[in-house]
Amino acid sequence: MSTNKLLTRDQVAEHEKWNLEAMYATNDAWEADFKKVQELLPEVANFRGRLGEGASTLLEWMRLNEKIGLTFDNVFVYAHMRYHQNTGDSFYQGLSDRASMLAAEVSSELSFVNPELLGLPDGTLERFMEENEDLRLYKMVFTRLLREKEHVLTPEVEEVLAKVAEIAEAPGSIFSMFSNADLKMPSVQDSEGNEHEVNEGRYRNLLESKDRVLRERAFKSLFGAYGQFRNMLGATYNNNVKKNVFYAKTRHYNTTLEAALSGDNVSVDVYNNLIQANHDNLPHLHRYLELRKKVLGLDELHYYDFFVPMVESVDMTIPWEQGKAMSLDALQPLGEEYVTTVQRAFDERWVDVFPNVGKRTGAYSWGTYTSDPYLFLNYTDTLDDVFTTVHELGHSLHSYYTMKSQPFVYGNYTIFVAEVASTLNENLLLSKMLREETDKKKRMYLLTHSLDQYRSTMFRQTMFAEFEKIVHGLVEEGQPLNADLLSQIYLDLNIKYYGPVLKVDDELKNEWARIPHFYDAFYVYKYATGFAAAAALARQIQEEGAPAVERYLNFLTKGSSEDPLDLLKGAGVDMSSPQPIHDSFKVFVERLDELEKLINEQ
Ligand SMILES: [Zn+2]
Repeated sequence: MSTNKLLTRDQVAEHEKWNLEAMYATNDAWEADFKKVQELLPEVANFRGRLGEGASTLLEWMRLNEKIGLTFDNVFVYAHMRYHQNTGDSFYQGLSDRASMLAAEVSSELSFVNPELLGLPDGTLERFMEENEDLRLYKMVFTRLLREKEHVLTPEVEEVLAKVAEIAEAPGSIFSMFSNADLKMPSVQDSEGNEHEVNEGRYRNLLESKDRVLRERAFKSLFGAYGQFRNMLGATYNNNVKKNVFYAKTRHYNTTLEAALSGDNVSVDVYNNLIQANHDNLPHLHRYLELRKKVLGLDELHYYDFFVPMVESVDMTIPWEQGKAMSLDALQPLGEEYVTTVQRAFDERWVDVFPNVGKRTGAYSWGTYTSDPYLFLNYTDTLDDVFTTVHELGHSLHSYYTMKSQPFVYGNYTIFVAEVASTLNENLLLSKMLREETDKKKRMYLLTHSLDQYRSTMFRQTMFAEFEKIVHGLVEEGQPLNADLLSQIYLDLNIKYYGPVLKVDDELKNEWARIPHFYDAFYVYKYATGFAAAAALARQIQEEGAPAVERYLNFLTKGSSEDPLDLLKGAGVDMSSPQPIHDSFKVFVERLDELEKLINEQ
């Protein structure tokens, strides 16, 4: 299909649009569920102060909570998905606004629950579970909650903390308002004098341009714009880090890092192993960047030369029918049931395939416990789109297996494991294409695709993770941060990670100031651990076959019924050891070796 003639929503063929009618056949049905949630909410208040009354009251509460959750999820997810399919549709915009308001109401009504459960005398929940068999289903829910217990403070202090929570969000909301609404970058001219607007949304595309003048100017425009506000952004970020340190100390954690990892029950070793293993493999990244410089024929490799495709993009137009066939083929190693389910996703309209007027950009997988696990795509016939398709199928099939096997309370999964299921599918697709592709140019293209993923998902995210560890450590020691110090730390890390081949531009020192994830501390390392775990598992599946597949599919069925590290251990990777990270780098080295060879043969 042609990309310059965007269809309107009703011009897109029915079988290429998701079947949300399966969730709600009519608007009245949605309204009925909306009303049902509103009617259930007053019942919540009846349980306030009574959760410790006895096992049967607690069970009654858990069931009411589930009933609200199940219905509310459908109301919320449906309204948002309908809105995303055409953001210009004011009817669905209205539904999604109402669903968001309902979300706020639900969360405020339920806010007493966890503090009340945590305030029960020691051993109460355990005793209730002994007394009442049906309550044992929630063992993991209670275990996770009780882990926080030693970090819960007196009711008076908790009340104060709850009251300042909104104020504590100031650094993050100021940053987001500034970067999304106020900050303007000067537009730039390419080498032929054409004008280009610069903003965060367009930045990546501009940096992929073959026109080096344009790349350099776009980079300097964007990074320079942040640089103009570096003192304000340094103060904002400093306060964000101070906030994290304050909460960690107040809640009696040894460090901010330990506090951040506690939710996933991940030890600090996992984080440190990741950083160490990346350090050990930096020489390979340096070799890759040297190669990039050579292939691009540059006298100096600047940061703005990192994103331009190294190999002339080979003409690979892949219409949807072919994209589906490639996906089905690539996922064959996961066995018949998996592939049949992917076929169902295509046949039973779990997928909203093409862009249309007003449709949100990007791709995702979403659904509820009772709905199909839908896929939202903006497929435009490129190879990247096929990778996105198998990626989102990975999430959807993870949901499918989990919902089928787990009760509602464990029918979700954390981000720590989510990206394993999606990235593993990308691995399988790439490996298959590399096994079969004989055309040298296409092979080179696929290899660089993979190496660039390592650069951006493994090395870069780990560099971010190390930055966060350093700056939080400094504040914990009582050292204040400012823009100069942040820039120095950031530049040192860039020089360490990218090596002597990187020609450092002055503007690079401002990049810390533009990373939104830094306001969600110690989050990005999960991209790197997930990436490594997926690479290790894909390798096991290809080398070991059936036993590895069985372990992996079993992992998909587990939802959140176990902690992330236990889930991954069951699948075959022990993330408490640096081994899987090292294993995943072996793939990087193999692919780099081959690319080097192909380039030298030319
Ligand atoms: Zn994903």
